[in-house]
Amino acid sequence: MNREKIITRLKGKISEKRFEHSLGVEYTAACMAMVFGEDIEKARLAGLLHDCAKGLPTKEKLEKARKCGLPISKYEEKNPDMLHGKLGAYYARYKYDVIDQDVLDAICYHTTGRPNMSLLEKIIFVADYIEPNRKYLKDMDEIRKEAFFDIDKCVVHILKNTLDYLSNTMDDMDYMTQKTYDYYVTK
Ligand code: FE
Ligand code: FE
Repeated sequence: MNREKIITRLKGKISEKRFEHSLGVEYTAACMAMVFGEDIEKARLAGLLHDCAKGLPTKEKLEKARKCGLPISKYEEKNPDMLHGKLGAYYARYKYDVIDQDVLDAICYHTTGRPNMSLLEKIIFVADYIEPNRKYLKDMDEIRKEAFFDIDKCVVHILKNTLDYLSNTMDDMDYMTQKTYDYYVTK
């Protein structure tokens, strides 16, 4: 599917604000691909589509994920919005005709990361956090700089701040984010 078609479809599925965010991730990911020698088109495609399933109402995310036979963790069952990565990869495959597994994985894991991420996965994980439309989060200036100089350091920084934030706001911790952090912090 070409970009024009993807955009037309995507616009009907997510809010205007989220669409703007998706464009932000697309271009930020492209810039990072230039810096780190990743395939620019893959980065753009994954960035553009990473939140394609986020527009579904929370309950429907869980229902759809079940219907599609996706693996659902206990944490995701309690927080179905976390499923938009997995579900997004599924939609990218079957509604946007993406067959590139690297792109699908980058979409799938963009929310929590995972241990031993590919370069493309890291790029989308980071670009999602730093794209210019994002509101200012703690250490944002520093994190944005790291994104273009030391991507692993940047990944750890984002994970750490996310976990700190989660532990302040939620009683129950995202297991995958913690697992990713443990992997990268000892690397
Ligand atoms: Fe997302
Ligand atoms: Fe996003």
